[in-house]
Amino acid sequence: MSVTSARPPLIERWREHLPFEEGDPVVSLCEGATPLLPAPVLSERVGAEVWMKCEGANPTGSFKDRGMTCAVSAALREGAQAIICASTGNTAASAAAYASRAGIRCAVIIPDGKIATGKLAQILAHGARVVSVAGNFDRGLELVRELVERHPISLVNSVNEFRVEGQKTGAFELLEELGRLDLLCIPVGNAGNITAYWRGFSEMGATPRLFGFQAEGAAPLVAGHIFEHPETVASAIRIGNPARGAEALDAVEQSQGAIRAVSDTQILAAYRLLASREGMFCEPASAAAVAGLLEYGADGAERVVCVMTGRGLKDPDTALDHNEGAVIPCEPQMAAIEAAVLG
Ligand SMILES: *Cc1c(COP(=O)(O)O)cnc(C)c1O
Repeated sequence: MSVTSARPPLIERWREHLPFEEGDPVVSLCEGATPLLPAPVLSERVGAEVWMKCEGANPTGSFKDRGMTCAVSAALREGAQAIICASTGNTAASAAAYASRAGIRCAVIIPDGKIATGKLAQILAHGARVVSVAGNFDRGLELVRELVERHPISLVNSVNEFRVEGQKTGAFELLEELGRLDLLCIPVGNAGNITAYWRGFSEMGATPRLFGFQAEGAAPLVAGHIFEHPETVASAIRIGNPARGAEALDAVEQSQGAIRAVSDTQILAAYRLLASREGMFCEPASAAAVAGLLEYGADGAERVVCVMTGRGLKDPDTALDHNEGAVIPCEPQMAAIEAAVLG
């Protein structure tokens, strides 16, 4: 019996704009078509119409799935038996899920002790081989790039063209939903996603401005030099030498945008505001885009979209460490309950 899902796989939905023919293998978990949510509190604060593109609603909880469906489908088409990536977490979680779906092996290289708990749980659950390398993400990526030269393993980092192709569909969806937008705010780590959005907009003849945001402690595209020891609470963008940095700078220049830095304090303030006022529990990295919008303003834009790149559950430790709320202990009696609940 053949079973089809109500929502088409991303590759089928956008096939005419993607490098896949009818009959090519498609590995899908029903990614894309994520909610676009108005953000009334942010709109009020910046004096513009602000929307949140909820990429955390993708199957593994981040936008990486848009690219991964394409990268893994292409790897199968090429006959690959295994895929590999270096990752700050979300690429690995996505790769592990799509590899399990495809029935191929997956190995992931993660920076030593620097990966959010939820992401590690996902990777292990999907049965990928996890290798923790002493050093940061950038060193991990150097090593896997060399490894795939020596062995028939497909590299699914965002240096893989299919990743960018899949991720550009985020821009397509925004144009389909809004018709027009003036400004896109997006966090920047390895710079694959900002590159992908610009490609998507360009292919559709749209030219919103792009504001990319890096964390102060990992801001190579702002400072103009590599960060040897990138540091930020936003682990998804803790990257000191972005693989697609040059393309990101091009995209920003062409769009008359900018790449700027926000501090961890600003990131965490935006993170708490989003969760407590907009109902949006996102990753710290996603909050960087909103922190940037709040800090630098909409600069005259009427309609703004913030890309909420990943969901908050990915990183429960940061949530527990950086929120004011606390669990209130209580005896199982009415008076105590009343005092605890109403007090
Ligand atoms: C990967 C990731 C980013 C950064 O995207 P790049 O393509 O590396 O610039 C931002 N936020 C989250 C949640 C991510 O997983």
